[in-house]
Amino acid sequence: MSVSIDKLANAYDRLAALVGAEYVIAPTQNEKFTPYLKDYTYMSGVAGLVLRPASAEETLAIVAEAKALRRGNAEFQRALSLTLRGGGSGLSGACVPEGGIVLDLTRLQRVLDIDEKNFSITAECGIILAELNSALSNTELFYAVDPSSEGLCTLGGSIATNAAGPSSLKYGTTRHNLARITWLNADAACVKAGALPVKTSLGISLPDLLCGSEGRLGIVLDATLRLVARPEERALLMTVFSDAAHAADFVRTIRLAGIAARAIEIIDDFSAKLADFPLMTPQGGALLMIELDGRADFIGLDMEKLQSRDAKAEWVAARDAKNRESLWAKRKSISVELTRRYPYRLGEDIAVPLSALAYTMQFARAKASAHKIATAIWGHAGDGNLHVNYLLEDKSQLPVLDILLPELAREVTRLGGAMSGEHGLGRLKRRFARQALAPEYFVAQDKIKQAFDRDCLFNPALEDK
Ligand SMILES: Cc1cc2nc3c(=O)[nH]c(=O)nc-3n(C[C@H](O)[C@H](O)[C@H](O)COP(=O)(O)OP(=O)(O)OC[C@H]3O[C@@H](n4cnc5c(N)ncnc54)[C@H](O)[C@@H]3O)c2cc1C
Repeated sequence: MSVSIDKLANAYDRLAALVGAEYVIAPTQNEKFTPYLKDYTYMSGVAGLVLRPASAEETLAIVAEAKALRRGNAEFQRALSLTLRGGGSGLSGACVPEGGIVLDLTRLQRVLDIDEKNFSITAECGIILAELNSALSNTELFYAVDPSSEGLCTLGGSIATNAAGPSSLKYGTTRHNLARITWLNADAACVKAGALPVKTSLGISLPDLLCGSEGRLGIVLDATLRLVARPEERALLMTVFSDAAHAADFVRTIRLAGIAARAIEIIDDFSAKLADFPLMTPQGGALLMIELDGRADFIGLDMEKLQSRDAKAEWVAARDAKNRESLWAKRKSISVELTRRYPYRLGEDIAVPLSALAYTMQFARAKASAHKIATAIWGHAGDGNLHVNYLLEDKSQLPVLDILLPELAREVTRLGGAMSGEHGLGRLKRRFARQALAPEYFVAQDKIKQAFDRDCLFNPALEDK
């Protein structure tokens, strides 16, 4: 063994000792190791070791030790870096490592406190998001942020990406529901930041800074989230419009009517037919799914009001849980079916102002079609968040994305939107982001990274240009 390989092996041994042999995975354990090199994109990376700490204390010890070891091993900066990983359900390659150690945080999964009087829950970062609501099942409260991946993603990952879901239209994204965090930074210091009241003005908001930072500034060890009262009833309404422009107009009508819908989803013709939605005709069109929640008497009134705004349309209404869930299941099946049929599909998650919704769908479709790539587009129309899926037939079409993604990112930015509404930039989109956003934006972000993690201990692949 050469001196330097020997030195790195010793460093890895010291880190491994902090979690115990059972919770260390080496590259030689191929079957267990490989999943840690991927997320839910087509990307795949490389790493030297996986560590699975059980607690905040073990995680702190790893960060402190890695920091100390890096000081004495200048040549191993990357090999001793930490790529933070939650559920690995990311859609931007943010947790895909490029060298170094993967820090799997999923064993930190305790609910630390449920405070019903103050409408809050505190939990460790590795808990699966859906488990939060399971833990609240005996209360009148729930956590309202509902990404489709809530059964796969962790609390920490959802904070690091500012995850959102259909109900963000009414209840906001992760950021709006995040009250407090415990942040473990590159100095191996734990910082408690934030406060429970919505009205909090404590200088630069560290929870806001960490939320959406993709693990570039350190580890969210635990967090306190704000909860809301479980609604008495939920109902779904569905109708088809001749095209996306008419559907988008109706979203505006709903908002102007003062109806605070829980979710408004738009589904294009291709996707609606794929999921076998009712009402779709061979002529096609754009489907809107509108979910209402709240007091049962108010829901009845809102449903009437809504349908009266387009009395000629044919409406499907689901007030009972079974029908409602079966329609949501169809909506969620689109993604699964697309992945099955198109292993190399890529799903963009842009967000645009409402007035640009229909135009953006048409723009993305036309640009892809010019390269003979089909698209499937659906999304959270109420807040302009569209999932543009490029349906690549095989790997050989991947280079076309190098044209389509920056083109779409630039157009979305020009329209005043965001090239990612909820998944983040990750490794996949960071390079396109530099083409779409002003250079000063990245200078400012890089300065923040420098200030908190100058030596790139955390997620170094996200800094690679
Ligand atoms: C089928 C499917 C549906 C999806 N639907 C949605 C959706 O509706 N809405 C949505 O927003 N997203 C969705 N996603 C994307 C994904 O689930 C989210 O981005 C999710 O928040 C990632 O969480 P994770 O725990 O899997 O994080 P990972 O993929 O493991 O990591 C994501 C990022 O978080 C960082 N990170 C993880 N834990 C921590 C921590 N404790 N501290 C600091 N940084 C950390 C990682 O380093 C990385 O940068 C979907 C994904 C799939 C596969």
